[in-house]
Amino acid sequence: MAQFEIPQEQWAQVVEKTGGPPVYKKIPVQKPGPDEVLINIKYSGVCHTDLHAMNGDWPLDTKMPLVGGHEGAGVVVAKGSLVDNIELGDHVGIKWLGGSCLNCEFCMEGDEPLCPHALLSGYTVDGTFQQYAIGKAAHVARIPKDLDLAAVAPVLCAGITVYKGLKESGARAGQYVAIVGAGGGLGSLALQYAKAMGLHTIAIDGGAAKGEFCKSLGASAYVDFTTSKDLVADVRAATPGNVGPRGVLLLAVSEGPFHQATEYVRSHGVVVCIGMPAGAYFKAPVFDTVVRMITVKGSYVGNRLDTLEAIEFFRLGLIKAPFEVVPLSTLPEIFEKMEAGKIVGRMVVDTSK
Ligand code: NAD
Ligand code: ZN
Repeated sequence: MAQFEIPQEQWAQVVEKTGGPPVYKKIPVQKPGPDEVLINIKYSGVCHTDLHAMNGDWPLDTKMPLVGGHEGAGVVVAKGSLVDNIELGDHVGIKWLGGSCLNCEFCMEGDEPLCPHALLSGYTVDGTFQQYAIGKAAHVARIPKDLDLAAVAPVLCAGITVYKGLKESGARAGQYVAIVGAGGGLGSLALQYAKAMGLHTIAIDGGAAKGEFCKSLGASAYVDFTTSKDLVADVRAATPGNVGPRGVLLLAVSEGPFHQATEYVRSHGVVVCIGMPAGAYFKAPVFDTVVRMITVKGSYVGNRLDTLEAIEFFRLGLIKAPFEVVPLSTLPEIFEKMEAGKIVGRMVVDTSK
């Protein structure tokens, strides 16, 4: 069995107070508990959720001080005494759902994200913006050894979440889905998963650069929310007969697009809320919702089987969403760009720099 030398200290980005910024500093390396593994994180994607966590955007407290991050891919370097199905040297990933009790009614039904005892990586427990992170053995994602760890990292939150959201939309091959926030991290993966699932996509985001980007990822149409004079009409016009898309994946980080979605979704269609803008409410006209038989639902990451399936799409070469690798030390600048909506696709941090 492989042996690893584990240092006492490591580099990490630590949020010391709500509002940030993260501080790049050395902190101790933790030891895994009996049911845990210690993972040498090589790469971690940066999700907008990490920014919400730092800013205290949601009605759920974070741990503080906090090491954020929940899209981390790396190598198992130590494990607890109860872990018998993971070997040192295995490649694994830490995802948003760090742990769940596996005993409650929700866990039994495969709804692990709904477990009342769920551990949230980079939110209620320390996450992947550090070189060595702890993961619950039952929940770490298994990553085949031949996969590029930087490229697979964004699958661990963005990929799993949009794949699950597309399934929740109920859309089937040959049908249209609108991807709102298509040029961002989740959006870029959503375009790729949708294509691999045989769905046609209408990408919605802002600016010409994001339009070209979305088209290059397989979007059938692009609607620019910054220039469109009638977004509802434009989205409908992108579907045969102007009936609107069967499904809508709301990945945007502002409230406005949530209200528009029920207007352009096809009658009997499904609006899936995934993005979580701070303090946002969902408003839809009751009359239209009834007589057009519209379903509005939420979708929250995915379970262990969704994880396995999302990684399998990647292993088969069907998911090639562009990403940019930068040093972990640059996290504050990534957050600034993200706040300004200037990131195209996903940023991935290299924890060795
Ligand atoms: P991101 O910043 O990479 O992308 C957001 C995109 O939305 C940007 O491209 C931006 O230009 C676009 N946008 C902003 N306003 C818009 C508008 N009015 N219309 C269309 N597009 C608009 O963020 P991300 O990492 O992809 O995360 C998106 C959201 O999803 C965040 O709120 C995050 O917390 C949430 N999220 C939810 C889950 C879940 O399980 N439900 C999982 C992961 C992330
Ligand atoms: Zn995320």
